[in-house]
Amino acid sequence: MRRYSVAYEYKNSLYLNITNRCPNLCYFCIKTKWNMDYRGFDLKLENEPDLKEISEEVSRFYGNKKYDEIVFCGYGEPTMRWGIVKEFANLVRNGKIKNVNSNERIRINTNGLGNLINKRDITLEMKGIIDSLNISLNTADPKQWIFIMRPFKEYEEKGFYSVIDFIKKAKNNVEEVVVTAVELKEVDIEAVKKLALDLGVKFRSRPFLENEND
Ligand code: SF4
Repeated sequence: MRRYSVAYEYKNSLYLNITNRCPNLCYFCIKTKWNMDYRGFDLKLENEPDLKEISEEVSRFYGNKKYDEIVFCGYGEPTMRWGIVKEFANLVRNGKIKNVNSNERIRINTNGLGNLINKRDITLEMKGIIDSLNISLNTADPKQWIFIMRPFKEYEEKGFYSVIDFIKKAKNNVEEVVVTAVELKEVDIEAVKKLALDLGVKFRSRPFLENEND
């Protein structure tokens, strides 16, 4: 029997953990601190799930109860597998996922590097299939972004500006775009909020998680 979770519940949402890969190594990331566990779910994937496995997991969970939304999140960056996310969202919209309504809300929690990772504007492909994006920006300062997010070397120079561009493009294609920032002591949260509002999107700060009970 498989130990790890592809789908897991938090509050009234169904979360999907489809990859453990991420081009960042944020110093606040709980995946190492919590040893790949999230509130009792083991998120350390031995294999990345394919479309069939993801679809079956979602159908199974929705067979037992209804959720407010499906969220691509987990301990990795979902846009590393944008092709699979897109295929799954299209299946939902075409009513092809058993027990799930075709208009079910779909959100992606992302670090905003999806266009750089995929080398094209993937926000255009989100139109009509993705309802919400939560983009973890965390700072309004490009230098501090490198310090906090600790991106792969090749993303250091363009990373922050690419996320800003991603936000601008996303708001034209996705109904709800929310910039988020973890409440880190060295971060000027008001400056991140101002930047988000200036970009024409919503803002939400998130608590810095230390313990699993937080
Ligand atoms: S972007 Fe997300 S998954 Fe990646 S290191 Fe940062 S917090 Fe962790």
